[in-house]
Amino acid sequence: MSPLISGAANRNLVGIHAGVWVSDWSPTSARHAISESAAAGFDLIEIPVADPATTDLALTARLLESHSISSVVSLALSPDCDINTEDAATSARGEKKLSDAVRFARDTGSTYVGGVLYSAMTKYDHISTEAARENSLGVLRRIANMALTSGISLGMEYVNRYESNLLNTAAQTVEFIRELDMPNVVVHLDTFHANLEETSQGAAVRDSGGLLGYIHAAENHRGYLGSGSIDWPHLFDALARTGYSGPITFESFSRAVVSPGTADDIGLWRSLWDDPAPLARHAHDFLRSQLHATLSVHTDH
Ligand code: MN
Repeated sequence: MSPLISGAANRNLVGIHAGVWVSDWSPTSARHAISESAAAGFDLIEIPVADPATTDLALTARLLESHSISSVVSLALSPDCDINTEDAATSARGEKKLSDAVRFARDTGSTYVGGVLYSAMTKYDHISTEAARENSLGVLRRIANMALTSGISLGMEYVNRYESNLLNTAAQTVEFIRELDMPNVVVHLDTFHANLEETSQGAAVRDSGGLLGYIHAAENHRGYLGSGSIDWPHLFDALARTGYSGPITFESFSRAVVSPGTADDIGLWRSLWDDPAPLARHAHDFLRSQLHATLSVHTDH
């Protein structure tokens, strides 16, 4: 399968989540996040979907173009607009959020919407039901069809058990995507979540197989890459062996930047950094050097 987004000669794009820089998508924030990401050497910026009614989408598209940087859009549904539900009104609010996110991507020139699109990102107090899962599949099939007409793909980012009751592993996500049976839906693998649920990062990559379309590179503690317990050489070796050529996007958050509400949602009780600029430069160099090291090994034989 060809990658959704890749650089010249199938070179992996190295991305950064806008949340490293800013907590909203006002014109000032958009300018700051896009210019800083480009200056740190990134090929791509991931923009959490913002309210299109109060966002200058054309400005975002122009800034991306002038800094020669690609973008993707991300979203996590909240409990009041969950589609992993048997409640029709809640599901309808979720379907509206998802279709708004696809339009946000289309109008900013992005071809990918990823995240917790299949359920709420929350600590559920019950197991998902078959009817709720079927509802999620039904909504996502309609959203994927709509996205397809704009050349947009959807990434199912599976998360750990404390953040969803529906998709916690690559194997579950592959099964879910097979049932969706749409050509523009892929596995979005986040190393932070995989670290909690998978036997290894390599197993997560292998289980994703040809459906792997996007990666969040995050340490087990979500701080500086390489300062935690994620086995990065093992991950990159598995990616090289499977020929993965999609984006690899750095994701890290600090209360120094994100809003208190977002920080609370993701359980960010400790901040591991205060200054985004050195963190971002380090992440870029770290990911590029991991890619380079793996490439050298794999082109030797
Ligand atoms: Mn993530």
